[in-house]
Amino acid sequence: MATITNKLGLPEVLVRALQRDPYSRGKSRYSVTQLIDSPQVRALSERYHEEISRDISDSVWLLLGKGVHHILEVGAADEGSPERTIEERIFVDVDGTTISGQMDVQEHPGNEVEIIDWKVTSVFRVINDSARKKWEEQLNLYRVIRHMDGRNGAVTKLTIVAFLRDWSKTKARQDPEYPQQPVVPIDIPLWPIGDALEYLRERVRLHVTADMRNDIGMDIDPCTDEERWKRGGVYEVIQEKKDGGEWMRKAMSDREEAERLAAEFRKTIKDSRRVWVREREAKPIRCLDGWCPVSEWCPQFQKERAAA
Ligand code: SF4
Repeated sequence: MATITNKLGLPEVLVRALQRDPYSRGKSRYSVTQLIDSPQVRALSERYHEEISRDISDSVWLLLGKGVHHILEVGAADEGSPERTIEERIFVDVDGTTISGQMDVQEHPGNEVEIIDWKVTSVFRVINDSARKKWEEQLNLYRVIRHMDGRNGAVTKLTIVAFLRDWSKTKARQDPEYPQQPVVPIDIPLWPIGDALEYLRERVRLHVTADMRNDIGMDIDPCTDEERWKRGGVYEVIQEKKDGGEWMRKAMSDREEAERLAAEFRKTIKDSRRVWVREREAKPIRCLDGWCPVSEWCPQFQKERAAA
């Protein structure tokens, strides 16, 4: 079991709450959430599980997420609707490997089904395309395993309901492109079922291969830039605040678009010098900023550090 530390001396009840994790992928080898993530991160996390250490102060958002899931689960179950299934885990065999996925909610009035997933997350993830892409993969894989398991009804809608833990009313007032409420329903595109099945098989193949290489002591295929949260250079439109601080109004991948937006913002203020575009170099944030639990054992990252 990973070691849990409490460097800030937070109340013991917090430590115990975070240690008591009811999550289980049951008898499956991989869960859908593991499959859509990096095979290297998962395989190394299993290999170094006993040595990984996590401080309780880094896990408070996890606790908030668990709380929201629990309240919604209890609330929906109390209602006892026959047209709603809560927190169901489905198991299927994919080319000889058992995988599973747990859906927060399946609404199934009549013959049509909507899959809903709750996310306690940041505003950045809601406005960032690559974060949304992960949600698209996750929900489309739920849909395909439901289909493979021969469940009744056709899934016609996929929805993420995002609870924004860092939402600001002030920013919402100032920026029409900022989420206008602290809870946002997001429609997720449905993939053709054949494409979703192909994607599922490919993810299983990548994870099985990573385990085979791990078992015989070979390096695992490296993480992709996306898996390392290393995104193309970003152009941030910055506005200086009255107190001299900075307000990042928008981050965009296209410089021209960022310059165009900055010009729009300049028209709305007296001193146009207070808005500018800043280029941010792409960095593997997950590896560098402590978001990857296995960075100290990762050959890919350690080789890069040694070469730097
Ligand atoms: S440290 Fe970076 S490259 Fe290595 S496993 Fe973690 S995310 Fe992947």
